[in-house]
Amino acid sequence: MKEDSLVIHEIYSSIQGESTFAGLPCAFVRTTGCNLRCVWCDTPQAFRGGTRMRRGEVLSRALALGTPLVEITGGEPLLQPGVFPLLSELCDSGKTVLVETSGEADVARVDRRVHKVMDLKCPGSGESRRNRWSNLEHIGPGDEIKFVLADRADYDWMREVISVRELPRRTKNLLVSGVFGKLDPRHLVQWVLEDGLPVRVQIQLHKVIWSPDATGV
Ligand code: SF4
Repeated sequence: MKEDSLVIHEIYSSIQGESTFAGLPCAFVRTTGCNLRCVWCDTPQAFRGGTRMRRGEVLSRALALGTPLVEITGGEPLLQPGVFPLLSELCDSGKTVLVETSGEADVARVDRRVHKVMDLKCPGSGESRRNRWSNLEHIGPGDEIKFVLADRADYDWMREVISVRELPRRTKNLLVSGVFGKLDPRHLVQWVLEDGLPVRVQIQLHKVIWSPDATGV
């Protein structure tokens, strides 16, 4: 059965680096494979390889990490049919469950108890034409929409999308960050304040903490 197994890149615990859950201990299940190629992708190691595992084993290894929060990420998790029942099983186990998805994959089948953290790909990613706009119909107050900006042109695109697609009507959780090391967050904050945009500026905590330049004590 296609849903009985998944190809997994890694299962580990850390803190949540992004989203409104940032800073919380979290178990991560990273699936292998992605059908996009964002120019600034920070997980190209998950494009191929991985280990095929029974879905029950993935579930038990994620639960064994013991965190109240579990995230399925990738790559693109929703490419694998086994992810949909896995998400539901994690919810059934009492976990708070997040799924990170690119905005291209169809989110219609995702269990409604799951918090979807969905990208809308900006032009600077090189994959903007792949946004599946019909996904917005499945975004509710418990979900989050994420923009990763490479430059001012991406910011202007985002501002237009927020307005034309009436995103605040769907969710108050609109997340924006700059491509790490490319867009100065101080510029981003300045633009957001000038425009009074209803977004949450975020820094990818995991990169700040574990970048080679992070300062120790
Ligand atoms: S969708 Fe995510 S994993 Fe896929 S190429 Fe883009 S950033 Fe990388």
